[in-house]
Amino acid sequence: MQPGELSPGSEHHARAAALRARDLACLWHPCTQMKDHAGEVPLVPIARGEGPWLIGVDGSRYLDAISSWWVNLFGHANPRISRAVADQLTQLEQVMFAGFTHAPAVELAERLVALTPPGLVRCFYADNGSSGIEVALKMSFHYWQNAGRPGKKRFLALTHSYHGETLGALAVGGVDIYRATYAPLLMPVDFLPSPDASAAAPGMNAEQAAIAAAAALEARLAERAEEYAALIVEPLVQCAGGMRMHHPRYLQLAAAACRRHGVHLIADEIAVGFGRTGTLFACEQAGVTPDFLCLSKGLTGGYLPLAAVLTTDAVYQAFYDDWRAGRAFLHSHSYTGNPLACAAAVATLDIFAAEPVLERNRLLARHLAQRLAPLADHPHVSDVRQTGLIAAIDLVRDRETCTPYDWRERRGLGVYRHALARGVLLRPLGTVVYFMPPYVVSEDDIDLMVAVAHEGIDLATAD
Ligand SMILES: *Cc1c(COP(=O)(O)O)cnc(C)c1O
Repeated sequence: MQPGELSPGSEHHARAAALRARDLACLWHPCTQMKDHAGEVPLVPIARGEGPWLIGVDGSRYLDAISSWWVNLFGHANPRISRAVADQLTQLEQVMFAGFTHAPAVELAERLVALTPPGLVRCFYADNGSSGIEVALKMSFHYWQNAGRPGKKRFLALTHSYHGETLGALAVGGVDIYRATYAPLLMPVDFLPSPDASAAAPGMNAEQAAIAAAAALEARLAERAEEYAALIVEPLVQCAGGMRMHHPRYLQLAAAACRRHGVHLIADEIAVGFGRTGTLFACEQAGVTPDFLCLSKGLTGGYLPLAAVLTTDAVYQAFYDDWRAGRAFLHSHSYTGNPLACAAAVATLDIFAAEPVLERNRLLARHLAQRLAPLADHPHVSDVRQTGLIAAIDLVRDRETCTPYDWRERRGLGVYRHALARGVLLRPLGTVVYFMPPYVVSEDDIDLMVAVAHEGIDLATAD
């Protein structure tokens, strides 16, 4: 090698640096203050993925402990899903879904109807989670219009809930950082207490917290059910709102109250569906069939954007009529039911059918719980909780008084940066450090991600 020539390692570093510079010159990233990337938080250019690992342009490897924002179930570049998408690519990449249909969309709908809770017999596609929420909200409102109940036009949602960031989805979200700026643009929504077990009043257990929150719902419905079209909830775990977990009893009581008072229940399983909480769908743990079930994220195994809204025959029949009656549901996205996305989703369901995914997840969840247990005694940890393959750790300044850290201290960012340097992708929500790994992680991978998180927490809370 001549003096001054780049070694292969530094050549890769130069390539990564060039990509970063080109990105910063023309791109704008989601959920990001772009100025951070010009300074202490450099972008991470990724070249490829392999199972639970992401491999950087500079050759560094990152264990994807958060499933690339909760979408990836069976690893990156999964051979089975990749093959299904590649095969579909040779047949049909896209066709409009009004007036036309195709086998991947039909097969996926049949299988979702068979797999989701009984009574959900119709599948409407959209092309991302937020759009799926818009579909459910509009369908519920429109159902009541068609049913001759025009007064039922408000939605009920829970504090700390997150349902996406388009304006309708944002309106039913209860997390201030996403919502506050846009509040003047949002439709009015009424918020009810979250059944969040970790915020239960002193002396209350998770089930009692669920019963108390359901009582608040019941009281509201008893008073004003005639104004409400639907209640929207994230079953078992409010994810973006801080991985807040609740007892399934809440879903049972909420579903019963909604039914009794003639208000729809919209279950947003966009993050918790497809085995994340221990059952294929979180609603199963409460034995509940919602009026609308929203699915996205893991639906395609994390390959392509797609959403499905499952609903009942009663809802479908309220729209089904002679065209002159003007009762049809007029909502469309250009890529509704995209064949590539549907093929990825069918291949994902094939993996669930062929492999003991839920059993393996249970073993992984148990291993994760064992590894996390010591963190419960950490002087700056106020809570460690877990539902299936979602686990979360709350960082606080003082665990005795539960004094939070000032958000301006960016403690979670310290954990993020330490983990990246150690080859693990964690992305705390403020001071909530969480894990939501792909189902293909090994026990060794879990050991690594928990050990690195523990180190990061020690460092980020050292002063
Ligand atoms: C991510 C998420 C959404 C929004 O999905 P997008 O595809 O990001 O628009 C909605 N609801 C929940 C519970 C989510 O976690």
